[in-house]
Amino acid sequence: QTAADYIRSHIRTVPDWPQPGVQFRDITPLLQDPRVFRVLIDQFVHRYFDTRPDVVAGLDARGFILGSVLAYELNVGFVPIRKKGKLPFTTVEETYELEYGSATVELHTDAVKPGDRVILIDDLIATGGTMMAGKRLLEKLGATVIEGASIVDLPELGGSDKLREAGLPLFTLVDFA
Ligand code: 5GP
Repeated sequence: QTAADYIRSHIRTVPDWPQPGVQFRDITPLLQDPRVFRVLIDQFVHRYFDTRPDVVAGLDARGFILGSVLAYELNVGFVPIRKKGKLPFTTVEETYELEYGSATVELHTDAVKPGDRVILIDDLIATGGTMMAGKRLLEKLGATVIEGASIVDLPELGGSDKLREAGLPLFTLVDFA
């Protein structure tokens, strides 16, 4: 079996969570099994080993788990993009629309330098709003997001197409309809 199939078989689908009608793709089984966790992280390490970004940026909160291990393996720094109100130093912020309401994410103003080449990582792309907000934050500070990475893409929601149309190349491992 391929690495993608092995990874897919360790994603648990939880029906009607966090609300009726949603099929939540739960990645915690991937982290729990040390063999599949290693296979998972190695997909990203191999992808970016030669590219060698300057920084890995992780999206709150599952992007922190993946991004910190990836950054460590690539021997580059890690920066967190957090939900509003969590970062103590001066920040830039970006607000985006959700199905109901809006969300704001923040990044420390010294997290990246102009010209830095950044890999932006999260566990899953749905509408693409979260990753788009992350890209905008990094660009506000003059950095370039060279690729967005995630374990799961939900292509039918159109987020990955929207991100690619906005000029962000993507690397994802598993699609779910
Ligand atoms: P988007 O902004 O692309 O609509 O939603 C993606 C964000 O919501 C990511 O930060 C992701 O962690 C979270 N998310 C939305 N749906 C799911 C899901 O089914 N499974 C997981 N693991 N995360 C989800």
